[in-house]
Amino acid sequence: MISRAEIKSYANRSPKFDDMYCSLQAVPKLPKAMVKETKKVIAIARKFNEQVIRPHALELDLKMHENPDFLPWDFVEKANEWGFYTMWIPKIFGGQGYNMPSMSYFVEEIGSACLSMANLIGVHYLGVCTLTATCHMRLINRLCRDVAAGEKNQTPCLISLAITEPGAGTDVEEVDLVDKGNITCHAEKVADGYKINGTKVFISNGHISTWHMVVAYADLQKPSETTVMMAVKTGDKGFSFGRKERKMGQKGCPASELVFKDCFVHDDRVCLDLQQIKGLKRSPRETAMQVIDYIVAATRAGVGAFATGAARGAYESALQFASETSVKGKLLINHEWAQCMLSEMFKNIALARLAYVETNYANGLYGAFRELQKKPMYYYYKMMPASWLEKMFSGMLEKPFFTKLFRKQQLDGQTDDEIHRTSGWGSLAKFSGTDLGIKNCQMALSMMGQAGLRHDRGAEKILRDAKLLQIYEGTNQLNRLNLFKCLIACDYPQAGVFDE
Ligand SMILES: Cc1cc2nc3c(=O)[nH]c(=O)nc-3n(C[C@H](O)[C@H](O)[C@H](O)COP(=O)(O)OP(=O)(O)OC[C@H]3O[C@@H](n4cnc5c(N)ncnc54)[C@H](O)[C@@H]3O)c2cc1C
Repeated sequence: MISRAEIKSYANRSPKFDDMYCSLQAVPKLPKAMVKETKKVIAIARKFNEQVIRPHALELDLKMHENPDFLPWDFVEKANEWGFYTMWIPKIFGGQGYNMPSMSYFVEEIGSACLSMANLIGVHYLGVCTLTATCHMRLINRLCRDVAAGEKNQTPCLISLAITEPGAGTDVEEVDLVDKGNITCHAEKVADGYKINGTKVFISNGHISTWHMVVAYADLQKPSETTVMMAVKTGDKGFSFGRKERKMGQKGCPASELVFKDCFVHDDRVCLDLQQIKGLKRSPRETAMQVIDYIVAATRAGVGAFATGAARGAYESALQFASETSVKGKLLINHEWAQCMLSEMFKNIALARLAYVETNYANGLYGAFRELQKKPMYYYYKMMPASWLEKMFSGMLEKPFFTKLFRKQQLDGQTDDEIHRTSGWGSLAKFSGTDLGIKNCQMALSMMGQAGLRHDRGAEKILRDAKLLQIYEGTNQLNRLNLFKCLIACDYPQAGVFDE
């Protein structure tokens, strides 16, 4: 047999081995109430799919194809009515405070009915997550409370993230590449704030968001050290919307051009300024890298969940087709080749889901969800009435001291190894889930023949929608390289990544 000492010794020989099983370490620590809460979230998503999305998704796709300038306000408002823009905002900031991993299950459900809608809701949380990652307590509190107010008075208030530029997509997603990129969005320091000039493209929800987390650079020669993240509001002087992209899929979720011409942003709206940030153990460049990794480790798991939804949608279309279509005198579902294909598709769904679930466990142990999932914190916020939390904390959150404290705790509190684990797993969930999603779409179309190509069957729309998932949140190539960097190369100093 094996002794206790031997178990310890063998486990320690390969610390990466433990990485593969974040669930083993995380599950015993999780608050039990999270399970019930997650079941509730899944049930809400299913009801929304049935009542709101499924009856209109194909029609909206056609409408947007014919008129890309149309904006899906009906859906935006419905999601607001159902409370979806505040569900995953912590209660301390005026939200409903549902546990963060439950959002992945939610977007998987919504994605199984329509990826445009999953992105429309999910990308708002990309904005929220970016804002939260800056640890700027006053701005987090103000913007999130704006979202909550928008829900109360039925005027949706969403947050977008604007980072991609016309000449730089992958390069601005990765700090190791940004200094070599064709960066043009300039933040010039002026009295009391910054003046932004430049253009952002492909910004999901741009035209329908109230707030925009804008990433610009004070020195275009040294962007990795001079990154500035700012909150810009629709209607601000010098800020306007350009075109909406005509894209192949996810047509219901607009991808917008954002144009800045001498747009003044007051210091009050600067969430993170790498040149000003002081007292942290990492350099400004390393801090930029950490903040980006902190965001994408969580949001790439979300894209993996979108993709799991797409894999399910495709599988469900194929299964329905196979159960009602006869080939050679018998139902397709009774042909062994079709049974094997359906099993393969079922497996793809299971694997895509396992990857994002495991990543959520990693984020709960070492990343963005860590504090809120600790049992005392979780139950404290769950039990406390929102009005009491507001009275107790709103004043405190205004104080710069609180931002400093939170930054120190969140950023300095995370080790390099923890950053690598969460970021590497985020990439794994993203590229494996989205590749499996596409596989299922292709298999569904192969099985369905000409029916699969018809718009009214829905399967071709899922393929068009799913293809986009392999591109945003870092292309799958970039994510493969990031996994290599975070989970493999860190043990092999001779391996260079992004250094060509
Ligand atoms: C539907 C949609 C919604 C989006 N929403 C947002 C949003 O809300 N906010 C936002 O800021 N951005 C958004 N984006 C932009 C998205 O993040 C970028 O498209 C993505 O980062 C890829 O950049 P790119 O398209 O410029 O491709 P490029 O960077 O030009 O890449 C082209 C090809 O080269 C490869 N490549 C590039 N660099 C490297 C490298 N160093 N090593 C190896 N291969 C490399 C890529 O993998 C790709 O195959 C969205 C994009 C889409 C399609």
